Amino acid sequence: RHIVAALGAALSLCAQAQVQDAQIERKVTALMQKMTVAEKVGQLNQLSDREATGPVTSEYAAKLEAVRSGKVGSLLNVAGVASTRAMQELALQSRLKIPLLFGLDVIHGYRTVFPVPLGEAASWDLEAIELSAHIAAKEASAAGVHWTFAPMVDIARDPRWGRVMEGAGEDTYLGSQIAVARVHGFQGKKLGATDAVMATAKHFAAYGAAIAGRDYNAVDMSEQQLYEVYLPPFKAAADAGAATFMNSFNSLNGVPATGNSLLQRDILKGAWKFKGFVVSDWGSVREMVPHGYAADLSDAAVKAINAGSDMDMEGYAYTQHLEQAIKDGKVKMATLDDAVRRVLTKKFELGLFDDPYRYSDPAREQAVLGNDAHRAAALDVAQKSLVLLKNDGHLLPLARSGQRIAVIGPLADSRRDLEGGWVPGDERTRARVISILEGMRGKAQVSYAQACAPGCAGTEGFAAAVETASQADIIVLAVGETWDLSGEAKSRTDISLPGQQEALFRVLKATGKPIVAVLLAGRPLVFNTIADQADAIVYAWFPGSEGGNAVANVLFGDYNPSAKLPITLPRSVGQIPLSYTQYSTGRPVVNKKDIVYKSAYIDAPTTPRYAFGHGLSYTDFKYSGLTLSSPSMAGRQKVTLSFDLANSGKVEGTEIVQFYLRDMVASVVRPLKELKGFQKVHLKPGETRRVSFTIDRDTLSFYNSKLAWGAEAGDFKLMVGSASDDIRLETRLTLTR
Ligand code: BGC
Repeated sequence: RHIVAALGAALSLCAQAQVQDAQIERKVTALMQKMTVAEKVGQLNQLSDREATGPVTSEYAAKLEAVRSGKVGSLLNVAGVASTRAMQELALQSRLKIPLLFGLDVIHGYRTVFPVPLGEAASWDLEAIELSAHIAAKEASAAGVHWTFAPMVDIARDPRWGRVMEGAGEDTYLGSQIAVARVHGFQGKKLGATDAVMATAKHFAAYGAAIAGRDYNAVDMSEQQLYEVYLPPFKAAADAGAATFMNSFNSLNGVPATGNSLLQRDILKGAWKFKGFVVSDWGSVREMVPHGYAADLSDAAVKAINAGSDMDMEGYAYTQHLEQAIKDGKVKMATLDDAVRRVLTKKFELGLFDDPYRYSDPAREQAVLGNDAHRAAALDVAQKSLVLLKNDGHLLPLARSGQRIAVIGPLADSRRDLEGGWVPGDERTRARVISILEGMRGKAQVSYAQACAPGCAGTEGFAAAVETASQADIIVLAVGETWDLSGEAKSRTDISLPGQQEALFRVLKATGKPIVAVLLAGRPLVFNTIADQADAIVYAWFPGSEGGNAVANVLFGDYNPSAKLPITLPRSVGQIPLSYTQYSTGRPVVNKKDIVYKSAYIDAPTTPRYAFGHGLSYTDFKYSGLTLSSPSMAGRQKVTLSFDLANSGKVEGTEIVQFYLRDMVASVVRPLKELKGFQKVHLKPGETRRVSFTIDRDTLSFYNSKLAWGAEAGDFKLMVGSASDDIRLETRLTLTR
């Protein structure tokens, strides 16, 4: 009876949704019947507001006039109740009074700053990640924002590319799960709640694979790679209901993503049945001219909309040329109408036609931004994202007393560098940041020396730092990238510690005191000296407003670290691109002495410095008793892989168990390891839990050379472990047909 009732309720919800969709469709149709071509084009035009502090130029005055006359469908970079209200009032003076959409890059928080997305990914904690996105949405929507240009779901395997910071790392499976969590977090269950915003899956597609890690560069890859590695997180985001997609600056196999109808029409709107709209990246329609793909701006407008780019962000191509292109027959009215319908549908779904100001509520803005609950959530996910890379001789956790601790380094008392890039507003409008020094001082008496300013250009302060260090028993050294070295257009060929930071490490090492290195970064750095010689290392990313407290909690053991790397840390730039999903070769490195004839380097190992999935804890986990419910499977059957996980150490802790597989022989060469599942398991000391993963046909499937998805009969190696390079148990499974 309960099942029947639940089913009934679900069906009626479904029916309600259908009725609502049909109502919205009718409203959109009715509105579109009243619209001129110019008004339709206006809905596809997105402009950026001026810099908040800049003067009102004639160009800006022209933007305001465009809004007032219905020639703008959306603004980006407007936030705050007062500003969004003012702009909406202007839009409502237009003939048809169509409300504006306000979009903003709310990437990892609005007022309360969460760890950068790559950092959060290290938590492998889908609930915490979803909550972080939800809070960001809650704060942004309270400030009048309807739409965030996030999540970035680009797989990134080249840490020279500065935007690795904005994604979930190198792995397709983990990246897809996180994409879903973020879309759900930003949007909630259904568009229209005023504490949620529309999400954007970006950058469609393959932007993370820019040749040589140079931002905006061309991408050239096989369709198999595209389907297998780069598209799944986008598919997952679309299936999770992402309201919008953003295309990208790069060309893909010769065709700019913005003019790419294979991506936007065939795959996204065709095969995936995506009902939302696609916004271009900033000026990416216009950029098809320098790409050499469009002859001029008018040609760019035609190619972009025909290929499925619905909204033109700061490109001026649609607004200047689409009307004429319709007259000339280069763009069909049906194509324009489809794009406009997609945009208007979202405005209706958000409820903006019922109340254009429903997101701009001054009382809510006051109450919601940066409140204590939000800070608590930021602390929670920040400590879950700190990766303990090394802990020789159990130097960590630190004792609160009996040890003299010197906190040293250019980033130890920095606040701005804890926030990372892509944070709205400025330091005065954002939540107060707790520095690492401040976090440490909250727990114990510590001494402090900065040694050098962020960037660490000079060594003048080193002597004083050495003096401070020699008075102490233990050194906590905070070094890394400053916040502005990663993010958009921040590609680097040298990803070692900037400035004199390695020299600083060496002079401190010479004191003979044990060193705990805390590394801040938006990307994998190369830090071999520290990796070899520091006693303990915590990779802290850019951990956000509560970063200092999170670091202190981990260093003093108030939080037992559980994070695992979502991206490989290489030994050198020469190894890049390097990810754990290596394809098998005809020359596997079996005999390490004989490497000349193997697929290897003669001057360095092929292995990374720290592998994907690596991360230590203050306790130990034992894996044992692996069983498979059946050694073989066929057709649609499922098998269950199980094992015992025990906490054999002295403190409670969380292990992220990882399940990998390898297809031994297939019609295309398969990777040596592919992540197919993970679980976060919390255990008390001495506690054991049986952990299971279900394997079905999909788990064993891949894209063959005809791009058909399916599994092939044969043997599979199944592996579970604590990291991609720390497999604890393995077995074989045979797929018989
Ligand atoms: C970036 C996008 C971003 C947009 C709007 C572009 O330069 O590539 O990721 O959403 O600007 O700020």
